Amino acid sequence: MAFEGLSGKLQEVFKKLKGKGKLSEKDVKEAMREVKIALLEADVNFKVVKDFVNKVTEKSLGQEVLESLTPAQQVIKIVNDELTNLMGSIQSKINYGSKPPTIIMMVGLQGSGKTTTSGKLANMLKTQGKNPLLVACDIYRPAAIKQLQVVGSKVNVPVFSMGDKTNPVDIAKGALDYAVSNNFNVMIIDTAGRLHIDEELMDELVNIKLSLKPHEILLVVDSMTGQDAVNVAEVFNNKLGIDGVILTKLDGDTRGGAALSIRAVTQKPIKFVAMGEKLSDIEPFHPDRMASRILGMGDVLSLIEKVQTQIDEKKAAELEKKLLSQQFSFDDFLDQLQGIKKMGPIEELFSMIPGLNASKFKGMSISDKDIKRIEAIIQSMTKEERQNPIIINGSRKKRIAAGSGTSIQQVNSLLKQFEQTKKMVKQFADAGKDMKKGKIRM
Ligand code: GDP
Repeated sequence: MAFEGLSGKLQEVFKKLKGKGKLSEKDVKEAMREVKIALLEADVNFKVVKDFVNKVTEKSLGQEVLESLTPAQQVIKIVNDELTNLMGSIQSKINYGSKPPTIIMMVGLQGSGKTTTSGKLANMLKTQGKNPLLVACDIYRPAAIKQLQVVGSKVNVPVFSMGDKTNPVDIAKGALDYAVSNNFNVMIIDTAGRLHIDEELMDELVNIKLSLKPHEILLVVDSMTGQDAVNVAEVFNNKLGIDGVILTKLDGDTRGGAALSIRAVTQKPIKFVAMGEKLSDIEPFHPDRMASRILGMGDVLSLIEKVQTQIDEKKAAELEKKLLSQQFSFDDFLDQLQGIKKMGPIEELFSMIPGLNASKFKGMSISDKDIKRIEAIIQSMTKEERQNPIIINGSRKKRIAAGSGTSIQQVNSLLKQFEQTKKMVKQFADAGKDMKKGKIRM
């Protein structure tokens, strides 16, 4: 999980502060020294860290903070607000042109995830009611066109290509004519990347920009490359001019430095983040929610949105009713498991729940094999057992294990998981109530 180290260290610092009650200037300075080390260790740009710590220290040493009844809370709030500001404070959206098609140019180094992200973006825009066209302008990397076509067919978005013998500027112009005459209202151009920045590549991108006048130039950067990602963003912005950044591979073991430095260094916002290899793994970037997540305060809103994209409303309403009336059964459990599996690694989801330590769930994911086993166990239960698992005693367990080709331990473990799920659902519901009461800041 991205930010895990930083998140853990910052929470340690705050725990110490909270334990102190009243704070002295020395306490605040000591805490800020630790915050500084945590940020540097997370690979945040040195200058950005210095500015950040100076700002937070100055605000935290104000009389109203030190003399307040809850000084530690106030310091945490200041850190939260400044982290949010650092990442851009508000969500930055796509600039749509006044006249269709809106032209989005995707740029970035090879391997950053440009082609995959073009497909993800097309997929996301399609679910928002747009009619996108993908355009294959990477004529150099072997199989780049084919890769875009594969991605396009998975998300059901057509790909415009003129092979690899035509100049990318002419391909882009051809695509524009095609989009206009076929009523595509968004064009997403997948341009060429290189392993390193080179003049020839920049010239080609500038030429496409000059002749197409895109509404958005989005730079795709790999968050795993840390400060290199920030340097790449700086160069692309200086040479080409970008409108925003898409940060990929945040599901990996990145320390988070890129996410926290890019905005401050380039003055350009992160617009989207990608957190996985599936074509649904893209989210709008909300600086405030990310700050909350880093500080371990969870991100209930993103979680809810994620769940909403996977569950249809009717089903969700039925489920809610069952949960409230305590009728949540093993059949529902199976349904949920399949839904959760679509949403990606469990650990990622847990990091969005306030108060849960996501690292405890590190590496937890549900495989098809697990689902099949659970399915077999549930199918070996009688209707009554599924509705009312409390009746499953030793001899029933034995029968279920034999029927599903599993062991009694596996049946036991599923029963335990079922109870845990019920508890977790309660935690969700309580978090929702707290949110309404304003106990949780987002
Ligand atoms: P391009 O050379 O910039 O077009 O990069 P690709 O789209 O071919 O992606 C390079 C690799 O990164 C592929 O194996 C992708 O599946 C992978 N990838 C892209 N985005 C993500 C992401 O958000 N998370 C993870 N884990 N992998 C990603």
